Amino acid sequence: MSPTTSALAARMAAVRARMSELGIDTLLLSLGADLPWLTGYTAMPLERLTMLVLPLETDAVLVIPQLEAARVQPRPELFSVQPWAETDNPVRLVTGVVGRSRRRLAVSDRTWATFLLALQVELPRSTWTVASTVTGPLRAVKDDDEVAALRAAAAAADRVAADLLSGGIPLIGRTEAEVSRELGDRLVSAGHDAVNFAIVAGGPNAASPHHEPGSRPIGAGEAVVCDFGGTMAGYCSDITRTVFTGDPPEEFRDLYAVLAGAQAAAVDAARVGTSCQAVDAVARDLITAAGYGPNFIHRTGHGIGLEEHEDPYLVSGNRDPLVAGHAFSVEPGIYIEGRWGARIEDIVVATGAGPSSLNQADHALAVVES
Ligand code: ZN
Ligand code: ZN
Ligand code: ZN
Repeated sequence: MSPTTSALAARMAAVRARMSELGIDTLLLSLGADLPWLTGYTAMPLERLTMLVLPLETDAVLVIPQLEAARVQPRPELFSVQPWAETDNPVRLVTGVVGRSRRRLAVSDRTWATFLLALQVELPRSTWTVASTVTGPLRAVKDDDEVAALRAAAAAADRVAADLLSGGIPLIGRTEAEVSRELGDRLVSAGHDAVNFAIVAGGPNAASPHHEPGSRPIGAGEAVVCDFGGTMAGYCSDITRTVFTGDPPEEFRDLYAVLAGAQAAAVDAARVGTSCQAVDAVARDLITAAGYGPNFIHRTGHGIGLEEHEDPYLVSGNRDPLVAGHAFSVEPGIYIEGRWGARIEDIVVATGAGPSSLNQADHALAVVES
């Protein structure tokens, strides 16, 4: 999705208002999602410096390698483009726009250290903070077009999940890596532009939340956690479903019922005005009451948008309230080391009318026979 110039102009105005609130003089955006969110341009993550210099009071300038300048869609209402040639010093170009007096600067969280350290040498009187203090809360609130893009990506991921749950993707006898590749291929067939990850964790590996799919063949009578997502028209999908190969033992059914109840309750709790940590607590308290508290070893969720993980984080300690337009995962898990594990994940948007789950794939424990 290429944002309209008017949408970008609104974002830039919001950024300037927040800079003013926080006392930031200049925003410096290099790698990461802040730059495309604000300009529509994604910098190449290479050794040459790309940096948008956005002063509070004057016009923004995009300092960019000359050989990449043709990739920029010109938006002169929003920023000018200053290409630099191979023998130019781009750090000097940036400091030329920033100015040498004492400044409060906010710089992209993902700026290469190479450039940040060089900038700090050139601007010894300035103070620094990360750009996410300015952009994080703004980017976390999705506009209608962004929610539509997230919804479309979630629907595409749902189609892959439905194939998995119905047994349309064979598991038994195949390696985790093979199934992972198939999930990725199906994400692309369903409309994604890129696959970001496809975790497949069978048997005891299911107890490792971020397991790297490997050469272990999936057997009969195992829990298999599948967590996959990609990027579609710039926005990310992320879904987890857990299936069981064959008839699940009572003990696993019980564990899964606790998990599904906790996940549904946390989705229902994700209402405008409720704090992020309260949503986490809803899932955690139910899992803890069932005796699995120490087995839920990660936060309940993360924001999602241009990046797979961004603000807001549903985690104890985050007192920020949900606001309409927040998009985030709700993904509790229960992991029993050496045995099995399970996780259920949906992407949810907080709206004035209550939580809207973008993922619709079935939550019941799926039993697959092949
Ligand atoms: Zn994860
Ligand atoms: Zn996930
Ligand atoms: Zn996730």
